Amino acid sequence: MTELADLGVMGLAVMGANLARNAARKGFGVALYNRHGDKTDTLVSEFGHEGRFSPAKDLAGFVAALAKPRVIIIMVKAGKPVDDVIDDLVPHLDDGDIVIDGGNSLFTDTDRRFETLKSKNIRFIGMGVSGGEEGALEGPSMMPGGEREAYARIEPMVTKMAAQVDGTPCCTFIGPGGAGHYVKMVHNGIEYADMQLITEAYDLMKTVYGLDAPAMADVFKQWKSGDLDSYLIEITAAVLAKTDSTGHPLVDSIVDQAEQKGTGRWTAANALELGVPLTGITEAVFARVLSSQRKLRLEAAKALPFKQPAGRKAQAADLDAIRDALYASKIVAYAQGFEQMTAASQQYGWDLKLGEVATIWRGGCIIRARFLDRIRDAYGSETTLSNLILQDYFRDAVLKAEPGWRRVVSLAVEHGVAIPAFSSSLSYYDGLRRERGPANLLQGLRDYFGAHTYRRLDQEGSFHTRWSQDG
Ligand code: NAP
Repeated sequence: MTELADLGVMGLAVMGANLARNAARKGFGVALYNRHGDKTDTLVSEFGHEGRFSPAKDLAGFVAALAKPRVIIIMVKAGKPVDDVIDDLVPHLDDGDIVIDGGNSLFTDTDRRFETLKSKNIRFIGMGVSGGEEGALEGPSMMPGGEREAYARIEPMVTKMAAQVDGTPCCTFIGPGGAGHYVKMVHNGIEYADMQLITEAYDLMKTVYGLDAPAMADVFKQWKSGDLDSYLIEITAAVLAKTDSTGHPLVDSIVDQAEQKGTGRWTAANALELGVPLTGITEAVFARVLSSQRKLRLEAAKALPFKQPAGRKAQAADLDAIRDALYASKIVAYAQGFEQMTAASQQYGWDLKLGEVATIWRGGCIIRARFLDRIRDAYGSETTLSNLILQDYFRDAVLKAEPGWRRVVSLAVEHGVAIPAFSSSLSYYDGLRRERGPANLLQGLRDYFGAHTYRRLDQEGSFHTRWSQDG
């Protein structure tokens, strides 16, 4: 009799197939099912030798191949397909079986699915999985949420499948209901900001200083060995260094229209709902939207021609200033993302452990970076930290970067280079540290036209003034 599988994977596109291979390579028996059987056949024929796979042609066979209580990871397209798959699967399951949604689902959908499945005695886990195709295979960062007891059942398996940093798995229980998918959503939002900041640095080097792709690849390679050390900086150097069959930099032939699947937009929309000033990530989402309006941009480029700056020669100090602007803006983006998770934790009653979140983002995921160690330390030692920028290391880093940051923003404005994330991050920083901002005038205006009232610095209570009357 064949041994029953430890884990079932439903949905065998890049992520599901690689997670299944990852589990099999770690010694787990894996049952496989995909709506269209060709993906199952391909996986088994190409990688069947990697471990113990049980391919199934139908759901009954898939479920029968699994040891009880069953553990099934769904890796299908986010949205309605997840509901469709769950609807098809549930009639085949028994009380206590565990269903994990490993896709990029919206956290409120996960909350809903969690409650629906709970009423059917099925334990549901919404688990963010980051690391792309390679991470899924070699060890991703995983963010599971739901019931802690259900997580305890899958913990030995997922912690073994996850990336490991200094012997610590990049996977930990995040919180109830949709908390895991929420944290994955913010992770993706930060990824949007990180990538936007990199493209702004690239645009400045290219447009203001006339650097070509190979030269910029060298700059990013250098930055990789400093505070900016991260996966995204590393792959930026690789993308800039790549040539096509004609020997020209491939990046110069790629259409400048960014696509998106929605997690950045969800992060920004949720920040508006929670009242968190998430400027870096939100500007990154808008920058992708503007890039995608290519037809309009081409029309505008004719009507409002851009004057190419007369190429200045980049001195080491100029490149250092861009690096500093990138680092300071990145700190702002993370500070804002972590503030959003703090607000969400309070709003939704999740008790998120932000030090643990930073710990599991140190490896496996797309935003893995050297400075996540610093964030882990910051949230580990100060549980009441109100904003990352106020913690010693980050405060000092931002203060040190500030002169270059300002110079770069001024330079970009002067030359007409769009830097929405650099400049909005700097404005956020400047707004944050002002003891007295200009919102007193705003309150006066609101009270003038809408009798919304205002508070005074020198007296308690709410006040309304008849502004148009004398005295
Ligand atoms: P995908 O392109 O998002 O989805 C393709 C998979 O979904 C196929 O297995 C497809 O089955 C299945 N599917 C679609 N509609 C279905 C339906 N109505 N019923 C049953 N199956 C259906 O695949 P992916 O890129 O591997 O991503 C899987 C999940 O992981 C997504 O939520 C994605 O957002 C998330 N994710 C992706 C990445 C990445 O780098 N790609 C990284 C992290 C997270 P058929 O083959 O039968 O069409």
